[in-house]
Amino acid sequence: MNALAETFIGNLSGQVAIVTGGGRGIGRSISQSLSKAGAKVVVAARSADQLQETVRLIEQHGGHAMAFMLDVTNQAAIEQMVMETIKQFGAIDLLVNNAGISGEEGAIWDVAGDDWWRVLEVNLQGPFLCARAILPTMIAQHHGRIINIASNAGLRPSANFSAYAVSKAALLRLTDSLALMASEHNISAFAISPGLVLTAMTQDISMFKDTPDLDWTSVERAGELCVFLATGKADRLSGRYIHVLDDINQLLDRADEIEEKNLYSLGLCD
Ligand code: NAD
Repeated sequence: MNALAETFIGNLSGQVAIVTGGGRGIGRSISQSLSKAGAKVVVAARSADQLQETVRLIEQHGGHAMAFMLDVTNQAAIEQMVMETIKQFGAIDLLVNNAGISGEEGAIWDVAGDDWWRVLEVNLQGPFLCARAILPTMIAQHHGRIINIASNAGLRPSANFSAYAVSKAALLRLTDSLALMASEHNISAFAISPGLVLTAMTQDISMFKDTPDLDWTSVERAGELCVFLATGKADRLSGRYIHVLDDINQLLDRADEIEEKNLYSLGLCD
């Protein structure tokens, strides 16, 4: 076994995870990885057929999963999901806010205003509503972890996907704010980037289609990092933005320096 694979081995048996947008792409892969590590997984997204397929893939490997159809901007549906999860599995140890959309490509005067705002609703309001609905359960348990799927797109300006960039930048600040407010309850929050992954979201984006030999990241990397974070081994890095290509053990070795200098977080440079 290579060193990288060894790093990410985790035993999540007894844990219950909720993964939004788990019907396909990165969310499906994260759901499968968490299940292979032993977690019971609630897969939440909009399309029943895609959800059923993720559940089938998990059960095929002997895992336990439940599909829950919801839109992450629907507060009532999220609350229903929390109740169902507690009823079926008894706890919620991990929330992975993965559901996201890129929005229409174009300058803000060319894209429809409602479409622009919808990106903020799905990518920012969705994680907020899910966290808000699940945190009381985690606080009562006195433990829990939240992983928000962010993006390097949140670190720089974007001419053609400004809603996406704004939403992912705001998600970084939501993440470290959550980490700050929930730490006294033994709850951690992380933002991660899955890298550039070929999925339904990225396959039609013109700047990717027009660039040959792009260095795509394998879809499994996000799941491996989520498993590692779910074990609690990286709780010292709560509030930080971690890329799947970062060396997590090196980051842990530098945890004091990262905290002192407030590295791996959204901020103005000197
Ligand atoms: P995808 O389009 O394949 O999957 C997105 C999932 O989110 C789908 O299951 C979709 O049904 C679900 N979803 C969308 N809107 C929803 C809503 N309102 N309610 C519930 N579910 C909803 O895309 P992906 O590439 O797998 O993206 C997953 C996450 O990773 C997103 O947050 C995305 O921003 C992020 N990300 C992706 C990349 C990449 O290169 N693909 C890079 C950085 C970050």
